[in-house]
Amino acid sequence: MRVVKSIQPLRQLIKQAKQKGKTIGFVPTMGALHEGHASLLKKSRKENDISILSIFINPTQFGPHEDLNKYPREFNHDRRLAEQGGVDILFYPSAKTIYPREYLTYIEVNGITNLLCGCTRPGHFKGVTTIVGKLINIINPDCMYVGQKDAQQAVVIKKMVSDLNFDVDVKVCPIIREPDGLAMSSRNRYLSPQQRREAPILSQSLKKAKKIISSGERNPQKIIRLITSNIKQNSTGMIEYIECVNADTLTPLKILTGNILVALAVKFGSTRLIDNMVVRS
Ligand code: AMP
Repeated sequence: MRVVKSIQPLRQLIKQAKQKGKTIGFVPTMGALHEGHASLLKKSRKENDISILSIFINPTQFGPHEDLNKYPREFNHDRRLAEQGGVDILFYPSAKTIYPREYLTYIEVNGITNLLCGCTRPGHFKGVTTIVGKLINIINPDCMYVGQKDAQQAVVIKKMVSDLNFDVDVKVCPIIREPDGLAMSSRNRYLSPQQRREAPILSQSLKKAKKIISSGERNPQKIIRLITSNIKQNSTGMIEYIECVNADTLTPLKILTGNILVALAVKFGSTRLIDNMVVRS
């Protein structure tokens, strides 16, 4: 595995690979790697000749009161996991490399970035699309792998790629969960033992909702009420949102039909967890 910190040497390696006709798969991450990241990498390895994984804790996607400074940084652990997972090139740039002092340019997807997580995290998706757009331009991958765990992020990235005609195939991979159903996340480690015991209520509630929708319920309010009471009765989590939207466009649904995304964000103390399930009806 090559660890590359600067853009020019990375471009050189990629150019050489492309000249040999090799295909490039790309997995963008913020590090603190876990099995969720590993699943994206596995798919990239299966479908491409060369897999590039980036680790960059992107400052522009964190709000002023969010957890940028306490976000886990554990490069040696990540490097080991990346190597074991079969990464060919680990791209690990500094913030200065990505955003030099005179940096002025941002990519913004309108509309769908103001819903769901966008309500409480203004500017977050602008940071996400800017870094992902930059990484796509630097790496020029054939395929990019993102997780359904961040459902809104996946839709926003796909929209950017389509609107700006980026020549990359975005593949959305399923959510990897702990044995008790909690969606794997770098932020789970901040949960206290009690919060960790309570947190599986999120996926349990979503599973119940999925079952009820699959058996014919069409009223989104009923689903939202069910999940709300489930979470309130069984945990100390503070609900930020629970919504039923179209899974492809994120449009809120008045009647549950088509490709339905049931998505939620819940705070356990200062730790904000998100989860979702897709139901086709
Ligand atoms: P992050 O490092 O949290 O920015 O995540 C990097 C990529 O991994 C994103 O595309 C995430 O959606 C994806 N990811 C994070 N957690 C999971 C998970 N539990 N299952 C599947 N993909 C995940």
